[in-house]
Amino acid sequence: MSYMSHLECSKCGKRLDSEKVQQLCQCGGPLLVRYDLKRVKENFNRNDLKERQPSLWRYWELLPLKDKKNLVSLGEGMTPVIKMEAAGPMVGLKNLYLKDEGNIPSGTFKSRGATVGVSRAKELGIKTLAMPTNGNAGASWSTYGARAGIKSVIVMPQDAPEITRNECAITGADLYLVDGLISDAGKIVARAVKKYGWFDVSTLKEPYRIEGKKTMGLEIAEQFNWEVPDVILYPTGGGVGIIGIYKALQELQAIGWIGDKMPRLVAVQAEGCAPIVKAWEEGKTESEFWNHAYTCAFGITVPKALGDFLVLDAIYKTNGCAITVGDDEILEAQSVLAKKEGAFICPEGAALYTATQKLKQQGWLKEEETVVMLNTGTGLKYPETVKVRVPLLQPDDDIPNA
Ligand SMILES: *Cc1c(COP(=O)(O)O)cnc(C)c1O
Ligand SMILES: [Zn+2]
Repeated sequence: MSYMSHLECSKCGKRLDSEKVQQLCQCGGPLLVRYDLKRVKENFNRNDLKERQPSLWRYWELLPLKDKKNLVSLGEGMTPVIKMEAAGPMVGLKNLYLKDEGNIPSGTFKSRGATVGVSRAKELGIKTLAMPTNGNAGASWSTYGARAGIKSVIVMPQDAPEITRNECAITGADLYLVDGLISDAGKIVARAVKKYGWFDVSTLKEPYRIEGKKTMGLEIAEQFNWEVPDVILYPTGGGVGIIGIYKALQELQAIGWIGDKMPRLVAVQAEGCAPIVKAWEEGKTESEFWNHAYTCAFGITVPKALGDFLVLDAIYKTNGCAITVGDDEILEAQSVLAKKEGAFICPEGAALYTATQKLKQQGWLKEEETVVMLNTGTGLKYPETVKVRVPLLQPDDDIPNA
């Protein structure tokens, strides 16, 4: 049983059948899942959640799966929201929170997209899926694909975090490295899917990944007891997370679970790859390809996002903003959060902390405001971002007082 009614093109508004395998609209626009929200409103109550598992599948009525037998899950979702008791006041914020996606299977929020995307792919009878990735998405989809009995073909830049290669390999994907960026991997995958008829699960080229990612927005609303925070910051690459959070909040408004207030959404990018920030600063509705993209926050190295116009729309409509941070600042923030909060998070997530500091200094954030940083993954997947020198002792050596 599902309340999904159809798919809708985010560009031209065309309606498409959700019971067929779909990729992009004919016009090139990404497709969004639409539900019969009137019926959801009648049949789904906030109280229903009390009896449900702490998994993102607790929001079943707002998800696209028809039959529970197709569920491919490893226990993902309901990640903790942790108050930054020390790190918040350090940047002048009394109510700074970290929603930590680090404890999800495979260690990043990408598994939200994978559990929903792979489940729906299984339901639609997909046998082989293919994707270009900066590493984490490939690892998640290959992991859930293994559980679903679906073959994964993954292409990632050779510079992607090494652990993600191992995850793809151990879970049985056909893995390829490319001497280039995710945009180059995308071109290779596009040629292959055309030739072999595989399902292309590139960012926004299938409609269901975003439905998984939108559950971050549903959880934030629930975890703040249906009083949404003032601001949500998100490390933006392809932008699916921020688009998904915005979609979730709109759906919650439509079913009356939250009021009119929308959090201001903030896209954070690295100085070395900031197409969305540039477009926002210039007041544009689409971004331009970013040449020579580079940042240590590898997951957000996306020179041109297919859904850039949707990200920008979410920022404009919520009176949000977009901001860049430098790689040195990112690594410094990562270290501060680990030392002051015990939060060893990924560089993408750490970028948000620097962004809060800058936005507070600019007066864009106010001391009392409730601010949520959406940390997309665990620092454990990025051992190379931490440089340490550790003394080597002989058994007879003594150590100095701490
Ligand atoms: C993919 C990824 C991002 C960017 O996510 P989008 O929703 O595609 O913008 C951010 N952080 C990490 C760790 C990622 O893997
Ligand atoms: Zn269209």
